[in-house]
Amino acid sequence: MKYFAGVDIGSTAIKIVIIDDKERIVGSKVSASGSMFYKYAKENYETLLRECGLRKEEVCYLTATGYGRKLFKEADETISEITANAVGARKAGMAFGTIRTIINIGGQDSKAIALDEEGNVSNFAMNDRCAAGTGKFLDVAAAKLEIDAEELGSYHFRSKGVPLSINSTCAVFAESEIIGLLGNEHAKEDIVAGIHYSIAKRIIRLAKRVGLNDVIYFDGGPALNSGLVAAIEDELGRELAIPENPQITTALGAALLAKEAYDYSEEHVENRADV
Ligand code: ADP
Repeated sequence: MKYFAGVDIGSTAIKIVIIDDKERIVGSKVSASGSMFYKYAKENYETLLRECGLRKEEVCYLTATGYGRKLFKEADETISEITANAVGARKAGMAFGTIRTIINIGGQDSKAIALDEEGNVSNFAMNDRCAAGTGKFLDVAAAKLEIDAEELGSYHFRSKGVPLSINSTCAVFAESEIIGLLGNEHAKEDIVAGIHYSIAKRIIRLAKRVGLNDVIYFDGGPALNSGLVAAIEDELGRELAIPENPQITTALGAALLAKEAYDYSEEHVENRADV
């Protein structure tokens, strides 16, 4: 059996996926990026190999993607996260139908990608200039509310009133706005719902720039936040397609592209031998 790896080094988390030659996921790992992300990526890759009972030599090709990809020396190839995300979404979202729009919220950026009928990227828009509408914004807000980012979903669904409006578009100002709302004795639940609706509105505005066609696929770590998912679906008036593990879509895409690159090179070596 041959194996292929995709490593997505994001600003917040490192995601690694290993697939076999039937394109089945044999193992995956998510860990914090930290300041020495290239070192952690290598260590986590080696740990995942051990967990999967694989030797490094059994992985025929490794493709790296994400913000830190260029510093990951183990990679046979690097690829943009837009391409890797699209390829991963096509595979992970297959059960939902033809994916035409991808909404991705990462640790420090958010993007919308439009795909044509064949699944090729036809357009994309990105916000990587400020933390508003990103995972960082949610992490900072959760810390201010003294709750874990993983708890945001349950707080959202316990909100009883109208979600509070969070007007600041800048994460720094939003932080003071949250402190102000807490000072005025607003419930954390209503503040959380307000934050989710404010991010939902921002990401929909971004997605409208590339065109919002069904099926709309949502991925990245914040897609694990059920409250944010509900707010986006509510604002859109449509359901989102979300895979079981939305944080690893781009790493999966990189692993699939690794297999494609390897198969292509093997085919060409064979063809040369035929001549
Ligand atoms: P990047 O690729 O930019 O590093 P990710 O797609 O890995 O970003 O997303 C990181 C973000 O995901 C974190 O900032 C965090 O807010 C969010 N996140 C991760 N796991 C969860 C979870 N279980 N529930 C809610 N949010 C989560």
